[in-house]
Amino acid sequence: MTERTDTESRKLLGRLRDELAGDAPGQTRLDKITSLIATSMGCEVCSIYLFRDQETLELCATEGLKAEAVHQTRMRLGEGLVGRVAQRRQVVNTANAPKASGFRFMPETGEEVYSSFLGIPIQRLGEALGVLVVQSKDAREFSSDEVYALEVVAMVLAEMTELGAFVGEGAAMSARHSHPVMIKGTTGQEGVAEGHIWLHEPRVVVVNPIADDPQREMERLNAAVDELRVGVDKMLSLAGPDQEQRQVLEAYRMFANSKSWMRRMEEDIGRGLSAEAAVEKEQSLARARVGQAADGYLRERLSDLDDLSNRLLRILTGQGTDTGAEMPPDPILVARNIGPGELLDYGRRLKGIVLETGSVGSHAAIVARALAIPLVVHAKSVTTEALNGDHVMVDGDQGVVHLRPDDNVVAAFRDKMAMEAEALERYASIRDKPAVTQCGATVELMMNAGLMADLPSLPNSGAEGVGLFRTELQFLIRNQMPKRSELSALYARVIDAAHGKPVVFRTLDIGSDKVLTYMKPNDEPNPAMGWRAIRVGLDKPGVLRMQLQALMRASNGRPLYVMFPFVAQYEEYTRARAEVDKALERERRLGHPLPSRIEVGAMLETPSLGFAPRKFFDEVDFISIGGNDLKQFFFAADRENERVRRRYDTLNVSFLSFLEQIVERCAVSNTPVSFCGEDAGRPVEALCLAAIGLRRLSMRPASIGPVKSLLRRSNLEDLRKVIADTRHRGAMSVRPAVMDWLREQ
Ligand code: PEP
Ligand code: MG
Repeated sequence: MTERTDTESRKLLGRLRDELAGDAPGQTRLDKITSLIATSMGCEVCSIYLFRDQETLELCATEGLKAEAVHQTRMRLGEGLVGRVAQRRQVVNTANAPKASGFRFMPETGEEVYSSFLGIPIQRLGEALGVLVVQSKDAREFSSDEVYALEVVAMVLAEMTELGAFVGEGAAMSARHSHPVMIKGTTGQEGVAEGHIWLHEPRVVVVNPIADDPQREMERLNAAVDELRVGVDKMLSLAGPDQEQRQVLEAYRMFANSKSWMRRMEEDIGRGLSAEAAVEKEQSLARARVGQAADGYLRERLSDLDDLSNRLLRILTGQGTDTGAEMPPDPILVARNIGPGELLDYGRRLKGIVLETGSVGSHAAIVARALAIPLVVHAKSVTTEALNGDHVMVDGDQGVVHLRPDDNVVAAFRDKMAMEAEALERYASIRDKPAVTQCGATVELMMNAGLMADLPSLPNSGAEGVGLFRTELQFLIRNQMPKRSELSALYARVIDAAHGKPVVFRTLDIGSDKVLTYMKPNDEPNPAMGWRAIRVGLDKPGVLRMQLQALMRASNGRPLYVMFPFVAQYEEYTRARAEVDKALERERRLGHPLPSRIEVGAMLETPSLGFAPRKFFDEVDFISIGGNDLKQFFFAADRENERVRRRYDTLNVSFLSFLEQIVERCAVSNTPVSFCGEDAGRPVEALCLAAIGLRRLSMRPASIGPVKSLLRRSNLEDLRKVIADTRHRGAMSVRPAVMDWLREQ
């Protein structure tokens, strides 16, 4: 761009700023801006279209088109040239608009006499806000310098729209972020919650998009980028061996040193933007590209650039993540993603959690589940849509977020919450009663846990103990390997908090999706079937031994229940059990008090163990069926893969038959067996598991009430007949017949 154009565009921005500085009503400002741009660009027409709702653009101000069309002319996203610019978020620049593809003539505007058309998307951080258009009678294509200058203006308009500069009395359009929005994501943890938004990383607000002194802005940018580079180098030097983390930091370093990134920002400053506005303009472009990039790798790198831009903006504006805003009393946390440790820091204060990315099996999801906080993941655009303090309703059951809900949604949602509260009260009334069915069978209901934070749920839920304590969570939420003394103190507190009720500790189940940042990563092609759980424990027994000792010391003369995850064959069980015997012997030699009794179980999570020799079933003290893993291996359907994880029904006849066979083998050997996968907490599934003979189920604490309630109302003998009939008929799943039967009851 030439020096002349630089100056022109700076002049235009300078005038724009003067215009925006006054406290005129929103509409007056818009009118002045259009007139200013038309004059500066030497065009007959300048118009601003803004979104009225997600799908509709409205002509909000114009210089040159008919005044009566303002707030009357509307178009849908994708409709006409303006709609196209908004939809594709791309510039349309044509000398002959009526001949351009997608053109739609709008007689009420009087635009038929204008030949050339330049439409620029008004967007902020990848969020489309409207379209800025200039038109002229002479058939000319706008030069790239003109396009560029207008893009800079559009960026300032976007910033001002965000700051609410155009909302005023008499202005028909309402500000962005004031409409209700419904976002469909994926369930991470069931439950419903109402509250107000608390942004984990509040967005940086750029209040001075236009600057007078480009030299000074260049210096500010250079100083900030230097600071950024030093910061990234430091992060890299402190980073652990985790490949993924290193890869992200390397990408940060690459971008921080990128000459073209720097050059583009310097050019924008040359045109009159402040340093922070130049950073944000680049960030907006990157965000827009994220949406269009089909390639996953590219998308990830673009979001790295996004994170880096945020860091740079925080340096430039001095705005940390602590904005001084006060957390609302009913916070619903919104974040792009969050680590388990950060989530634990918030603790039970949170009423709900909404993540833009995240995943069902992530550590954050595990923590949210432990804290029983409703969680929605994959909530697209939530971090751009939501503002701190916005009213929000989170439906973890459906995986839906209602942002700034209207009255109808609020009423329906509160009804649903009231119904759930009523049900909870009903469950509270049976809390201390046993789960005895109509036919007299007693089913023991236990809870799953993994954090100290889980333990208060034990008395509240009516659980008869902890059927599965996932010890890996303590390892996952730290940056370094916990010490034996820390673990034993923690396990002791868990046993204390159970007040004599049994707690079944599962030894470390790492590998697969549960990766410890401080352990050397293994690049495995299929980690779920790789070097995980007891396989790691047996090959590298150091941690297993440490853990067994910690457990024995924690039990301190009380009974101890230990089980090994992912045992695939008899020999793995005997070798693991030998480690327990060795640890006991060592503790005896050291003179430590031994557990009064020790029971050593195995998790049955691979089909192979269901076919283990009889001696396995005779020797093992108890078996716990890990239905989550067992089901994924039975059907060869990845439990983390959204495409297949719901494809096969737990009530599939083949799977139920297999489970029944395991129950029978346990009965023959007189070995206690329980079921501790997620299905144990689903009332209909739990009922069927009880019907095929399972008498101990371990589940999320919140599921105990609903499961107990259904069990107490049901007759398992009748249900057994329904299941047998269905099987006899050769049906694929017993679910339809069971549901019919339940409806009849
Ligand atoms: C299971 O696989 O069912 C289980 C309970 O273990 P996790 O979900 O921790 O793998
Ligand atoms: Mg498992």
